[in-house]
Amino acid sequence: MLDCVVVGGGPAGLTAAIYLARFHLDVRVIDAGNSRAATIPMTRNHAGFPDGIAGADLLDRMRTQARRYGAALVQAEVAGLSEAPDGLLVSVGDEVIATRSVLLATGVVNRRPPMPDDLHATALARGLLRYCPICDGYEVTDRRVAVLGTGAHGTREAVFLRGYTADVTLIALEGQHVLAPAERALLAQCGVATVDGPAAAFAIDGDKIGLRTPERDWRFDSLYPALGSDINSGVAIGLGAARSDEGCLIVDAHQRTNIARLYAAGDVVKGLDQISHAMGEGGVAATTIRNDLASEHALLRPALVE
Ligand SMILES: Cc1cc2nc3c(=O)[nH]c(=O)nc-3n(C[C@H](O)[C@H](O)[C@H](O)COP(=O)(O)OP(=O)(O)OC[C@H]3O[C@@H](n4cnc5c(N)ncnc54)[C@H](O)[C@@H]3O)c2cc1C
Repeated sequence: MLDCVVVGGGPAGLTAAIYLARFHLDVRVIDAGNSRAATIPMTRNHAGFPDGIAGADLLDRMRTQARRYGAALVQAEVAGLSEAPDGLLVSVGDEVIATRSVLLATGVVNRRPPMPDDLHATALARGLLRYCPICDGYEVTDRRVAVLGTGAHGTREAVFLRGYTADVTLIALEGQHVLAPAERALLAQCGVATVDGPAAAFAIDGDKIGLRTPERDWRFDSLYPALGSDINSGVAIGLGAARSDEGCLIVDAHQRTNIARLYAAGDVVKGLDQISHAMGEGGVAATTIRNDLASEHALLRPALVE
């Protein structure tokens, strides 16, 4: 029986794996390979990298570090979890893995604008498409920016970006904006232009991203979709884990869910969706898991045989 299965190999899961392996625990990371961090062309707000680091490079370093201390990393998708008398069972394909604990670090998936995958990938790599104003709003300082969305989420994101540039346009994806009077007033007060959709014909045009609305064709330095996210919490909810309205897992201050032996960390938990936060929660979860396991079976290192 393993000590811990970590589901998800992004910053949260890999941080936990490094800690757990260094606690001399038997840990396996099972990762489907779609970390949001892998899509970051260059993160510049992650402390310790003054010249920035590509998300894929950061993940590579973390995988090397986890393996160095004995963590096993497997690429696969976990289909379900079930309870067992002395732990949990993890279903992966035809295999059922018995473990004393599970850390869910499965992240979220951003909802994308309707555009082909290759256009999406190129626009993201070139910073024409961006998903995280907290991460990279600095990079659009004094640039021409559009936010794709409406309602409270679109308003929040557009007003946040006004802290970086005076040229922010909020464009509704599907049709007319759905904005409460207070949201319209706030947008007007902040000088955010609003444009009704539907928005279509997304394209890269030189060093700009273009789109069309019924009103006219538009070109921007960067487009921020504010269309929400889908939370990868299904396997935990299947086991009865408590969740917020959006589907984020609810944990205590030590990353425990309400299900015994099931812990959660990173974007899948309600909180700030950032690498630093995911790593911090991964470290807290791993230490909690170690101490919870030790309260059942003392984790004592055998004496050296001379
Ligand atoms: C374009 C972009 C730019 C960003 N820039 C920054 C930045 O500059 N700075 C910053 O701090 N943050 C940035 N972020 C946010 C950051 O990427 C996330 O906060 C971070 O990756 C969260 O880590 P995580 O480990 O919780 O989830 P993730 O990194 O998303 O990893 C979750 C992993 O779990 C796997 N998984 C899901 N379900 C299963 C399953 N059933 N079985 C097995 N595996 C599964 C997924 O495939 C994935 O590999 C950015 C995000 C995006 C999209």
